[in-house]
Amino acid sequence: MADFDLAVIGGGINGTGIARDAAGRGLRVVLFEQNDLASGTSSASSKLIHGGLRYLEHGEFRLVRAALTEREVLLRAAPHLIRPLRFVLPLNKARRSAVLLRLGLLLYDWIGRREILPGTRELDLGSDKAGPPLRGEFRKAYEYSDCFADDARLVVLNAMDAAERGAAIRTRTRCVRAERRDVWQLTLDTGGQSGVVTARVLVNAAGAWVENVAGHVLGQKVQPHLRLDKGTHIVVRQLYDHDRAYILQAADRRVVFAIPFARDFTLIGTTDELFTGDPATVAPAADDIAYLCGVANEYFRASISAADVVWAFAGVRSLYDDGAHKPQDIGREYELILDEPAGAAPLLTVYGGKITTYRRLAEDAMGKLAHLFPASRSVPRSWTAQSPLPGGDFAYDGFQALVKRTLQRWPFLSDDHAGRLVHAYGTRVENVLDNASRLDDLGQCFGADLTAAEVRYLMRKEWAQTADDVLWRRSKLGLRFSQAQRGALADFMVHDLAQAGAATAKTPSPTRP
Ligand SMILES: Cc1cc2nc3c(=O)[nH]c(=O)nc-3n(C[C@H](O)[C@H](O)[C@H](O)COP(=O)(O)OP(=O)(O)OC[C@H]3O[C@@H](n4cnc5c(N)ncnc54)[C@H](O)[C@@H]3O)c2cc1C
Repeated sequence: MADFDLAVIGGGINGTGIARDAAGRGLRVVLFEQNDLASGTSSASSKLIHGGLRYLEHGEFRLVRAALTEREVLLRAAPHLIRPLRFVLPLNKARRSAVLLRLGLLLYDWIGRREILPGTRELDLGSDKAGPPLRGEFRKAYEYSDCFADDARLVVLNAMDAAERGAAIRTRTRCVRAERRDVWQLTLDTGGQSGVVTARVLVNAAGAWVENVAGHVLGQKVQPHLRLDKGTHIVVRQLYDHDRAYILQAADRRVVFAIPFARDFTLIGTTDELFTGDPATVAPAADDIAYLCGVANEYFRASISAADVVWAFAGVRSLYDDGAHKPQDIGREYELILDEPAGAAPLLTVYGGKITTYRRLAEDAMGKLAHLFPASRSVPRSWTAQSPLPGGDFAYDGFQALVKRTLQRWPFLSDDHAGRLVHAYGTRVENVLDNASRLDDLGQCFGADLTAAEVRYLMRKEWAQTADDVLWRRSKLGLRFSQAQRGALADFMVHDLAQAGAATAKTPSPTRP
């Protein structure tokens, strides 16, 4: 018998989403991620849970509709990580006519199933608070709804939920070889240590690396279908002090978002250009940064340049190219390819997808594999649509009430500290703060409001191993940390890992691989 029913390569949103869905169906699941969870594209997105207004221009109604429907499903599943966001779209006749935009937004409101999110309205920028940050020539705007998510934490919560349902999550474990017999035999490299596990079915959810894994790890003859597009974002000190985002029409017909971010900042993105290198090397270029500053400067009174950028990041979208479309028309849909030759273990390959549609993708993936796991059919097809992610078991509009309860129980927290913790952990804030009765009970403070208790929680429960895992993926506190504070955090984590390693060495080794 194989060690596992299902092995997943890739700890991004799609791999962890599939692992969660499969574990919830009672399958024995293992997931391998070569670096940290969400270290690939899934921490470099625009972080929108959206239908994608501009995809309507390409006639992708099916994709937009499916994505719009997911907004409220995900909002209810993770109300701590995902919040409704209003987008202000200043009218700019030189770019698109007001009539075209109004029609597009009517369609957006109409095809997206909405119970929570308010619909489109027109704004007079002369009297609305959204007006003053913009240059004087912008007089009217439309305002519509989408959602904003912490993409990297969404990945971690999917992994956590999968683990709580029995899945083994192996980070910093690279799958270096997969041999196909009646089961898969996977060779793994964990920090130089080699290991082998077997699984009945393999899922290749390696995102931008999917064809690299197919060719070099699985030894397949690859018919190239992968198109990679690079996208860059910049973060600057906040350009305005209200809580709505802007969607700006650029001269090249693209749109650029400006989004309130991490309380004191504005996130601006994205660019979109063909990428042909190794996805691991993708990085923001000076041209990308200049482009984003240029679009922002066309709309905002405040002028920004590369010198104002406090953080920039880039990622690659992986798109399925069937060869039949022009590059700009290649959809953001996903493609699931099941290969099950007689007598050989099945392989499911995942192409494309979005953060927004990951749950549906996982559901479809398990639908494709259902005949291989008949017992899994007893679990409802859409069980993940009804089941909150860890910490998300509270009402979609209950965030402020939970902050209030948190402040009542741990009155030594500042409002900002409590708000940040509830955003990150939802009802699991309790597992971070435990029985602390004063701030000192949470241990050393490394900077901002990050304490030893929180770091330990991230290491024990969320697979954090390095300072970057904590500062850039489990949180965005990297924006507030100095080099020296980062060093102190890194030292603490190395020491804590060494201690945990010593403790593990004294306990008998587990029988399961
Ligand atoms: C600039 C940009 C903006 C975007 N904005 C949005 C948005 O606003 N909303 C939205 O819905 N979507 C957005 N997307 C799309 C979304 O980010 C991606 O579709 C999604 O993150 C892809 O997830 P994934 O799991 O397929 O890939 P990844 O997150 O890249 O995960 C794949 C993982 O596989 C691992 N891996 C590779 N090879 C191996 C191996 N041999 N062994 C073990 N592990 C391996 C990698 O390390 C990686 O972590 C955006 C994308 C980009 C680039």
